[in-house]
Amino acid sequence: MSQTETHTFQAETSEVLKLVIHSLYSHKEIFLRELISNASDACDKLRFEAVQNADLLGSDGDPRIDIVPDKDARTLEIRDLGIGMSRQELIDNLGTIARSGTKQFMAALSEAQKGDAQLIGQFGVGFYSGFIVADRIEVISRRAGSSEAWRWVSTGTDAYTLEPAKRAERGTSIVLHLKEDESEFLNDWTLRNLIRRYSDHIGFPIRLPKPGKDGDEESSGNTGEMETVNQAAALWTLPKNDIKDDEYQAFYKHISHDFGEALSWTHNRVEGNQNFTSLLFLPAKAPMDLAFDRDQRKGLKLYVKRVFIMDAAEQMLPAYLRFVRGVVDSDDLPLNVSRELLQNNRQVEKLKSALTRRVLDLLDKLAREDKDKYAQFWSAFGNVLKEGAAEDFSNQERIAKLLRFATTRSSNADERFSLEDYVARMKTGQKAIYFLSADGWNAAANSPQLEALKARDIEVILLHERIDEWMAGYLREFEGKSWKNIAKGDLDLGDLPDAAEVKAKHEEAVKAAASTIDALKTALGDKVHEVRVSSRLTDSPSCLVLEEYDMALHMQRLMRAAGHEVPTAKPSLEINPEHPLLKRFDMLADGAERESLALVLFEQAQLAEGAPLDDPAGFIKRVNALLLNAA
Ligand code: ADP
Repeated sequence: MSQTETHTFQAETSEVLKLVIHSLYSHKEIFLRELISNASDACDKLRFEAVQNADLLGSDGDPRIDIVPDKDARTLEIRDLGIGMSRQELIDNLGTIARSGTKQFMAALSEAQKGDAQLIGQFGVGFYSGFIVADRIEVISRRAGSSEAWRWVSTGTDAYTLEPAKRAERGTSIVLHLKEDESEFLNDWTLRNLIRRYSDHIGFPIRLPKPGKDGDEESSGNTGEMETVNQAAALWTLPKNDIKDDEYQAFYKHISHDFGEALSWTHNRVEGNQNFTSLLFLPAKAPMDLAFDRDQRKGLKLYVKRVFIMDAAEQMLPAYLRFVRGVVDSDDLPLNVSRELLQNNRQVEKLKSALTRRVLDLLDKLAREDKDKYAQFWSAFGNVLKEGAAEDFSNQERIAKLLRFATTRSSNADERFSLEDYVARMKTGQKAIYFLSADGWNAAANSPQLEALKARDIEVILLHERIDEWMAGYLREFEGKSWKNIAKGDLDLGDLPDAAEVKAKHEEAVKAAASTIDALKTALGDKVHEVRVSSRLTDSPSCLVLEEYDMALHMQRLMRAAGHEVPTAKPSLEINPEHPLLKRFDMLADGAERESLALVLFEQAQLAEGAPLDDPAGFIKRVNALLLNAA
C-alpha cells in the first residue's frame, strides 16, 4: 500500500535551482564534494549525539561514507552511516533551498554576477548541487535510534514526494539518477580522483567498490566488497610536515564551501596548560554577507577530542576576526559542553585569546613576507579588522601595525601605507600623526584643509571609509605619537623647524584681518560657531573646521539619516585672507553684494566638505550674480 505524499517546494526554490545548475555547470564535479561534506557532517553529528547516548550507534558500525556507482541503473549513490533524517527533518532540510536571505541575495545579483560560480557557490548550495548532474534525486534516510525510514524524491522542479521506505542501517542514501551525458561519474577512476582531490582528509573512511582482480572495473559494484580510498584522518590531526599545500586548500574548501583558494593559513598544536590544535584559514575574498554577519558569526568548527561539537565562531573569535575559517580541537573541554557553558568559561576565554593571537601572528607574517597577498587581504577584510583597532584594547598596538591607509602620498585610494611607513617619513619636529576624515576618497584627497600641510610637504593620512571616523575616535598613540585630526581644533604644527616663523606670520595675518572677520561674523550670524583666519589654507578661500571633540560633519549626517539623535556641532569658518575673493570682500561696501559673497564663502566651504546646501538654487543665483559683476 503506497502512501506517497506530494509536497511543493518553497516558492523561489525552482528558480534558484535553475540558476544554481546553470552557473555551476562548469564546475559540475563539485556536487560530489558537497554531498560528501554533508555526509561527513552527518557522521560528525552522530558521533556527537552518541557521546550522550551510545545506543544510537546500534550494531551498524562506525560512521563511514560509501560511494556506489551502478552502471546499469545509471545511478550514483552516496550512502552514509551518519545521523540520518526523520520525516520532518527531510521536509525541513531538503524542502527549502531559499533559506536565510537567499532570495534577497538572488534578487540583488546582476545578470553578469549570475554567471559567477564563486558568488553562487559561496552561499552553500550543498545538497542541491546534485541536480547539476542528476535529473532525479532519491533520498532514503533513517534517523539514528529510529526504525522508520523515509524516501524523498524530486526532479528539482517544483515538488517532491515523500513515502515510507525500508532501510537496514541508520543514515542516509542520496541516489543520483544521472543525466544523459554525465556517465563519467560512474567511472571508478573519476570517482577515486575526485575523492582524493576534494575529500582525502575528511575524518571518516570514504569507500568505493573494490575493482575486479585485473582492474576490470566492469565487474565491480556487484561483489559488494568495498575499499577505503581516502586517508580518513582529519587533516588537523596530522603533523604539519606531512601535509601538502593542496591538501590544506582542499580541506579549506571542505569546511568553508568557498570555491576559491585560501590566502593563507596557520596550523598549530599547543600543549601545556591548555591542549588544543587549531587550523585557521584566511579566505582570499569576502563573502557577500560579511557586513551583516557580525551578530551571527560562523566558520570556526569546535571539536573536542576529535568529536565535532558545534560552530563556535561567536564564542572563540572576536567579531573583528569574523572572516577567519577553521577548526579548533580541544583536549580539555568536556565533550558535553553546551553553548551556554561556552559563553562564561575561563578556558574558552583563554582559547579565544590564543586563537586571536594566532590570527594576528598570521597577518603579521603575511604583511612582512608577502606584500601582494597582504594587500589582497586588506582589500577584502581591512574594514573589518579596523573594528579591532577600536574594540580590542589588549591587542591595539599589534592591530595598529596591521592597518593600512592611503595618504597624501598615494596616487589613488588603493595605494596604502602602514603606520610604520608613515612614522618613518615624519618630518623632524613633527609630533603628531596627521589625518583627515571625509566621506569618500575624492572629498578627502582634495580637501582644502590639506593645503598648508601639502605646501610644506607634510604627509596626511586620508581616512575616507565610513568606519574610519568611528575607529579614529579610539586610536590613541602609535609608537609614542599622538593622532591629530587636521580638520578639528587648532592646527599646531609642533616643533617643525619653521614653526616660529609660521606662527609669527599667522599672528600678523590675524591682526590684519580683524575687520574682515567682524564683517563675516555679522553676515553669517549663527550659521557658524566662529570665523577665524586659517593656518590650513593656501589656495582655497575658506573651509569649515570643528572643535577638537566634535563629531565629523559627514558622520553627523550619516547618524541623523540613520535616525539617531546627534548633538549639532556647529563648524567654524576659516578664511584665507590672501585669497582674491577675500580681498574683494574687503573692498566691497556693506550691502547686499557683500552679504552674498559672505554666504558664498560659507557655502563653498560646505560643498568642499561634502555637505548638501540648505538653499542650492540660492547659491547658484549668488554665484552667477558675482560672476556677472566680476566680468
Ligand atoms: P547545508 O549543508 O549548507 O546546511 P544543504 O542543502 O546541503 O545545506 O543541506 C541542508 C540540510 O540537510 C543540512 O543542514 C542537514 O541538516 C541536512 N542533510 C543534508 N545531507 C544530509 C545527510 N547526508 N545526512 C543527514 N542530514 C543531511
